[in-house]
Amino acid sequence: MHPDMSATDRARFARHISLQEIGLEGQRKLAASSVLVVGAGGLGSPAALYLAAAGVGTIGLVDHDRIDISNLQRQILYTTSEVGAGKAATARARLQALDPNLRVVAHEVKLAAANVADLFSRYDVVLDGTDRLAVRYLINDACVILGKPLVSAAIHRFEGQAMTYVPGKGPCYRCLYPASSDALTPNCADAGVLGVLPGVMGSLQATEAIKLLLGIGEPLLGRLLVYDALSLSFDEFRFRRRSDCAVCGDAPTITRIQAEEDEPLNSIEEWTPEQLAEELKSGREDQLLLVDVREAHEWEAGRLPGSVHIPLGALPRRVGEIPADRTPVFICAVGGRSMGACRYFAGLGRNAINLAGGVHAWSDVFGAPPPPHDHHH
Ligand SMILES: [Zn+2]
Repeated sequence: MHPDMSATDRARFARHISLQEIGLEGQRKLAASSVLVVGAGGLGSPAALYLAAAGVGTIGLVDHDRIDISNLQRQILYTTSEVGAGKAATARARLQALDPNLRVVAHEVKLAAANVADLFSRYDVVLDGTDRLAVRYLINDACVILGKPLVSAAIHRFEGQAMTYVPGKGPCYRCLYPASSDALTPNCADAGVLGVLPGVMGSLQATEAIKLLLGIGEPLLGRLLVYDALSLSFDEFRFRRRSDCAVCGDAPTITRIQAEEDEPLNSIEEWTPEQLAEELKSGREDQLLLVDVREAHEWEAGRLPGSVHIPLGALPRRVGEIPADRTPVFICAVGGRSMGACRYFAGLGRNAINLAGGVHAWSDVFGAPPPPHDHHH
């Protein structure tokens, strides 16, 4: 790395260099900095693109997924011809095309307790753009334990949230949400998300990362920023560090990086549509209860014969409708919300079965389930 910037880079970053708060010095600082983007999806796409455009010298991308056609509505790193390719490597090529002088590292791994310390310790700032709650806690705890600044964001339908953690300077994600109580929050594959929403939130994450690297401005410390796209409003909720926080509190109980305990996946069985049909035929029908957790309009459009309807949001209230001597088979559109229901059930100490792939997978094998004909609309 040269102490002096090339003429090309002076031209490339001219609009930064003319900002008093950045200047040549700040631009050099960015070139010497590194940011790890966890999740190269809806949030990671705009965040990584802007960090690369801004001249952040080293950018790491953690993602083990492949590009799906349904990602393109919001994951602007990718194009139609790249469907099926690995996200991390494709994103790396895209960022490298934007600026060949950057160092872009594709980490094609699933983030886990075993690899998180090694990954995070190589970077200055971590950006959380993941969509799974257990991973969110893992990232938070690792950042607190390793002393890494973290910029996290989350998206849901038309709403986004963002907050920044700086070691020793403010509260962490666990101070805000002490326990993972929202196992019932559907991920965006099921709930849907406005495509441009992660564009706003990911851009905010890049803004925060750049400010942290430069040491300018006021980060989102102890402030949860909530963006509502429908009303086009930004709200801010202030929160403090909790002295009883399990990870950043005065007497932390989480002192080493470990996997979240909220995923008792081994007590949840997953059945394919064929397995379910087989089990129903073999006379286990009266030991099972098919519970459709989709919304009313989805249920009205067609349902599996013999299923009952309890929308996911109503499950805690109506859990008594599932007799103790029956094992529920939870069903949704593609299997995500129903997995949330299974986790909730597992948390109550009850067995549950997930229909893998949901009604979509069932339709592929047995044809679309019929709408009800027991009443007219
Ligand atoms: Zn905390």
